[in-house]
Amino acid sequence: MINIAKPLIGSKERELVNQVLDSGMLAAGQKVKRLEEEFCRLCSTRHSIAVNSGTAALHSALYAIGVGPGDEVITTPFTFVATANPILMQGAKIVFADIDESTFNISPQKILEKVTDKTKAIITVDLFGQLCDYDEISKIAERNNLKIIEDACQAVGASYKDRKAGNFGNISCFSLYATKNIMCGEGGVITTNDDELAEKCRRFRHHGQSEATRYQYYDIGYNYRLSDLHASIAVAQVERLEGFTEKRQRNARRLHDGLFGIKGLVLPEEKIGSHVYHQFTIRVTKDFQLTRDELIAHLRTHDIGAAVFYPKPLHMHPHFERLGFKQGDFPVSEMVASQVLSLPVHPEVTEKDISKIVEAIKNA
Ligand SMILES: *Cc1c(COP(=O)(O)O)cnc(C)c1O
Repeated sequence: MINIAKPLIGSKERELVNQVLDSGMLAAGQKVKRLEEEFCRLCSTRHSIAVNSGTAALHSALYAIGVGPGDEVITTPFTFVATANPILMQGAKIVFADIDESTFNISPQKILEKVTDKTKAIITVDLFGQLCDYDEISKIAERNNLKIIEDACQAVGASYKDRKAGNFGNISCFSLYATKNIMCGEGGVITTNDDELAEKCRRFRHHGQSEATRYQYYDIGYNYRLSDLHASIAVAQVERLEGFTEKRQRNARRLHDGLFGIKGLVLPEEKIGSHVYHQFTIRVTKDFQLTRDELIAHLRTHDIGAAVFYPKPLHMHPHFERLGFKQGDFPVSEMVASQVLSLPVHPEVTEKDISKIVEAIKNA
């Protein structure tokens, strides 16, 4: 079976985990500190704050920016639910803006149409490993005095004009969940260049306590700390990121070359900087000889694990319909959700695997 994702655990990960086990100190400590230093180096940011999930990172970011009841936050409906739920956790209102079909990312024009005097922030999602159109989005944010929270959970290592993912928002969020480009099972990292936002995130992950003055509670906080056990896996993964990314990009090129010109398939476009291919996502249109779901079934019979990210945009789920959204609200997201198909592109996919995938699609 050629799986859609595969966590890669090497000797370095084992060695660092064993160091933690031998030390007897498993909670946040030296390894978390080292992970944060590695992320500052990786992203060239002043601060990085490790937390125990990408969702915790997004929640902390919204808290730090001061999003609360009465505020509106604009985001994309074509994303994982964890982008949107933290807006509700902070008691604010979700405002969706539709996407650009060629990148799957939020459309700057559609953002502009949704800005009101209550808008406080935009959560941009660098979906599938490609950065959003930050030239345009930053202008909109600046003119309207909005903060940007970059959901870079799928885009660690992506860059645009020498700037790395983790720098395109006032604050940025990464996930280290098992299927992400680098991972530690469960985990997350926040990056920012803003000292005050960083300190707020550090308190929020630690029950509202400052690390300098324990047992003084300044505000509400959660237990969003990462453990040293998890951090040690992530430290080893950061060191391997460049190699992982090169392999993903090589696999993407091979898939692109193999599938180019097949009638009815739309291949992913690299529009904004370097794409790190968390997913290689094609669109299966009416002109293809099978429906998208028939193609998935066909690939299954050839032991190829293709998957749909995401089968339904957020606004069409009961959870969001209860907030007043309905089918028809975001037509581009709806169209794309019915067509997308992600093919295996992770570093362990071989040239032979790619040939097999390409042949299976050609013979569909
Ligand atoms: C994975 C992911 C998250 C959530 O991260 P967790 O670590 O699973 O909490 C949020 N947003 C996007 C776009 C993701 O892909």
